[in-house]
Amino acid sequence: MTGRLSGKTAIVTGAGSGIGRATAIRFAQEGASVVAAGLPEGLDETVEFCREAGVRAVAAVADVSQATSGEAILEAALGISSCANVLVNNVGIAGTTAAYDTTDEEFDRVFDVNLKSVLRVSRPFLQLCRSQSAPASIVNISSVQGILGFPNNASYAATKAGMIGLTRQMANDCARFNVRVNVVAPGIIDTPRTEERLRDSPAFRKLSVQSTPLGRPGRADEVAAACLFLASDDASFITGQILAVDGGASATVFRS
Ligand code: NAD
Repeated sequence: MTGRLSGKTAIVTGAGSGIGRATAIRFAQEGASVVAAGLPEGLDETVEFCREAGVRAVAAVADVSQATSGEAILEAALGISSCANVLVNNVGIAGTTAAYDTTDEEFDRVFDVNLKSVLRVSRPFLQLCRSQSAPASIVNISSVQGILGFPNNASYAATKAGMIGLTRQMANDCARFNVRVNVVAPGIIDTPRTEERLRDSPAFRKLSVQSTPLGRPGRADEVAAACLFLASDDASFITGQILAVDGGASATVFRS
């Protein structure tokens, strides 16, 4: 690896598994000090993987639906470093219902965890950015479902579309502090969240192939590579943009 994040401190939420874990590890391999934040399951293992890359890494146990989670996560970052330069808002939970069956309770819960948490975790990070002179980058993990429709996931899709709007707004508001804000929109990615359906549901497996020009589900490390690009100085003139990591799914009607 090339040290593209050397000297930087990166926070990744939902780092206990899947895309969050892969991103935390990739950032560590590129020289960043890492705060692996999220619910407890899997966090310590992620931290161990990061430390194997020879960097400082710490777990910050935090439920991002809780009011003070952003402050707790930032405090963990400032425990291992005097600055924080990268934040990946990766936590996301699925809704399960069609629009006509979605209750206020389900909508509120998914909205709180997926979208409101982005502001909740970003706010203290941005306050720090205002006081430090170094450039910083936020990467929000949305979904191809923030761009395209899919049955039975109304609240999820609404929050993922909301993340795209929020990202553009944050990019405009935060450019004055030299903070870039972009959004990654993954297609179907093989992670602990999807692996059971990819393995046991022929229909879901078929969908993941047929909806994707590249003809396969993505891997978590492929999303991590996109996060690395946007977090690094290679993307120094890119802000407010959507990067789809979806094997072409958002660029097609169906695969021929
Ligand atoms: P995952 O379920 O494997 O990992 C999610 C992580 O978030 C877990 O470690 C979990 O403990 C943590 N988490 C859940 N609720 C939390 C909370 N309230 N507070 C703190 N942490 C919490 O999921 P994944 O597949 O790696 O997905 C990661 C992100 O990518 C999500 O935002 C998801 O919507 C998005 N995404 C995933 C796919 C896919 O196919 N896997 C596709 C598009 C978008």
